[in-house]
Amino acid sequence: MKLFLRTAMSALMAAVLLCCGCADTGAGMARQPEGGPGAEDGDGARKTNAGQGAGGPWQYADTAMGTVVQQTIYAADQETARDFSAQAMELLWGLEREKISWRLETSEVYQANASAGSEEGFLLSADLSALLESCTLLWERSEGAFDVTLGAVTRLWDIDKWAAESSQEGFEPPGEELLNQALDTCGSQKLRLVEEGSADVRSAESSASRESRLRLFMPEGMRLDLGAVGKGLAMERISALLAERPDVDGAVISLGGSILTYGGKPDGTPWRVGIVNPFDTAESIGILTLEGSWCVSTSGDYERYVEVDGVRYHHILDPKTGAPAVSDVRGVTILMKDGLLGDGLSTACFILGPEKGMALAARYGAEALFVMADGRIEMSDGMKDVFRK
Ligand code: AMP
Ligand code: MG
Repeated sequence: MKLFLRTAMSALMAAVLLCCGCADTGAGMARQPEGGPGAEDGDGARKTNAGQGAGGPWQYADTAMGTVVQQTIYAADQETARDFSAQAMELLWGLEREKISWRLETSEVYQANASAGSEEGFLLSADLSALLESCTLLWERSEGAFDVTLGAVTRLWDIDKWAAESSQEGFEPPGEELLNQALDTCGSQKLRLVEEGSADVRSAESSASRESRLRLFMPEGMRLDLGAVGKGLAMERISALLAERPDVDGAVISLGGSILTYGGKPDGTPWRVGIVNPFDTAESIGILTLEGSWCVSTSGDYERYVEVDGVRYHHILDPKTGAPAVSDVRGVTILMKDGLLGDGLSTACFILGPEKGMALAARYGAEALFVMADGRIEMSDGMKDVFRK
């Protein structure tokens, strides 16, 4: 039995390759040299690459949410860049610890999961209320392809381990009986979101935070898994942080399959974001040329997977079967302003395929690019404007 698991670093390489002004060749940030002029003098896991002169860029790498975080910051001085990058990391760690981890008892998702089956349900914070509202709407619009209630099934597959460990001898896909038992606990149609003092709520156009809070009722055994939107939520939070930091002129933040561009570079040249070639993840299949602030989210069968006897089990599950989605798509990239929805859409579109996926993305005003199993690329018109091979 031959097994191959991606590590967090190689998952990053396999996500979206990022090209800054200093590297217009499609080289990923993860491969840019560390140290050199302007290099930080070392503060634990956080590292800085060379500043490229006045204004930056300064580059930092660290880990959060089970993946590598790469930050490229343009600011008047290195102290500002370092300060912002540290603040961004605190934000990401806090988000995991307090909101979205299903493992940590301190997190809201953990506590919501623990309430499954209870009569009183769980009173969500305003921001998780907004998030779950958006996720439920995406579930409806994707005809159930996107479903954050798959937690019992994702745990059975042990997807988290695929990302965290470099090998997993003895991996065996879960048996049919166990899978069906876990599937019985899933399905967004079975959860209820009730505004305190009013009827059920089931719609929100955007992931913008709401003032009021919702009470969540889940049946016994149901477990939320926000893995498909967690990085997008992080991008939204970092965008908000950047908006409070006029001393940061421009930034590109990469977190697994999600990339945020913000502001601009001192020389006025656009951002160039490479899209990974699923057939050779060390290469990019093309470049997006972007002005200003955008979120680029990619989902692919090469990001997290385990191979057993030549069969690839990847991390995007079909809610109908509980198994890795059988798809003629290898990767989907979504371009839009809203990071949370972009992240959710890339997962949904992977399962739906180009025809339905393109229509779903259009409903949200998002641009989409599909890399198909036969190597073809299918794109929305707006994506064609910014994509070059
Ligand atoms: P992404 O990499 O953004 O496409 O998200 C994939 C992650 O979302 C997986 O690692 C699971 O935790 C979770 N997930 C898998 N399949 C689905 C699905 N059909 N709907 C929602 N979340 C999913
Ligand atoms: Mg996603």
